Amino acid sequence: MEFQVEARAGEARGGRLHTPHGEIETPVFMPVGTAGTVKAVSQDILEELGVQILLGNTYHLYLRPGVEIVRQVGGLHGFMAWPRAILTDSGGFQVFSLNELRKVTEEGVTFRSHLDGSSHFFSPESAMAAQIGLGADIVMAFDECTEYPADRSRTQASMDLTLRWAARSKKYFEEHKHEVPWAGNARVGTATLGCPVERSSNALDSGASSEGERSGLRPDGQPRAALPTSSEQTQSLFGIVQGGMDLALRKESAERTIEIGFPGYAIGGLSVGEPRERTREVVEATLEHLPADKPRYLMGVGTPEEIAEYASLGVDMMDCVLPTRAARHGLLFTSQGKISIKQARYAQDAGPLDPNCACRVCQRYSRAYLRHLYASNEVLAQVLNTIHNLSFYLDTMRRVRHSIRLGEESRFL
Ligand SMILES: [Zn+2]
Repeated sequence: MEFQVEARAGEARGGRLHTPHGEIETPVFMPVGTAGTVKAVSQDILEELGVQILLGNTYHLYLRPGVEIVRQVGGLHGFMAWPRAILTDSGGFQVFSLNELRKVTEEGVTFRSHLDGSSHFFSPESAMAAQIGLGADIVMAFDECTEYPADRSRTQASMDLTLRWAARSKKYFEEHKHEVPWAGNARVGTATLGCPVERSSNALDSGASSEGERSGLRPDGQPRAALPTSSEQTQSLFGIVQGGMDLALRKESAERTIEIGFPGYAIGGLSVGEPRERTREVVEATLEHLPADKPRYLMGVGTPEEIAEYASLGVDMMDCVLPTRAARHGLLFTSQGKISIKQARYAQDAGPLDPNCACRVCQRYSRAYLRHLYASNEVLAQVLNTIHNLSFYLDTMRRVRHSIRLGEESRFL
């Protein structure tokens, strides 16, 4: 994976990230597609909105439908018919946030499924195996997300564990990365769909496979191990900096993660309940210690104002469930501030949701109609609200990228 910084404005960077499934202009906002779907929005609309990369959650996909099914149907790209880039998290964050009964040892984490209570085990190795099977372009090292608050010795111990797990993640990844469902067949564009390598004759059928067949990319019957070729592109494994809210530990975590060596670095362990000012302080202090020529990914933030602000500090990639989750609760981000569409004041409002938004929802529907859909609990309310909120986030990032390329400080609106 290549990353080029092409423009700077203050600390902000405008760059280009080349993945096996297309090029990404940074800074980029990545919508969250938890279980192989960005809730309420179909993939063709996500493409139309200009989503360059989306996020899948390993924990959820591992539990349902299971990694093996996804792998057989072409990896996550083929399974969800998404031709552009994907990033999966390691499962660590969900294990820590959804499982109060988890048990952490040096080896890994035992946890119970939030679906049926069954017992499961994630280690750095098994989390890597799952992410290789899912086949995202960017995968994440297995880490322990330190809880908040935590004292220094607990934070230090947790950070040390994450570092040992990072080294194990990398070792397993390097030994197995050729097993990705699209190994040897990655191309930029839609030709990457499908899983030509591992599909047996009785494998599940999908439109994605016929796409792969039409493009003549299917090397029938070859065993997976025989496939890596000179044209092979592989996934990229990012390391994750932890260290809680302790700035000295953040520095140490960054330095030791860089020593292990990754093509990109994430800042994890934030948005776990700490005050917002603290988040910013830790992000700023951590960014200082990350290499300038590698992509920097801030996990799990934030509001539209915050994503613009973090881009201005030098963050290249961000993801957050906020635009999609808020939309399903009728909370809409607009150029005039946040709107709760359920309010009675919009019942007779014939105006668009956001007069400054060019999205298909704002171009077509009134606030009165959107309010009616929400109040009536219509499925379409979730669809339209999510499309607008995602548009608003993606437009915010587009403006930020534009400002950076003009050499201006990126700012919100
Ligand atoms: Zn809109």
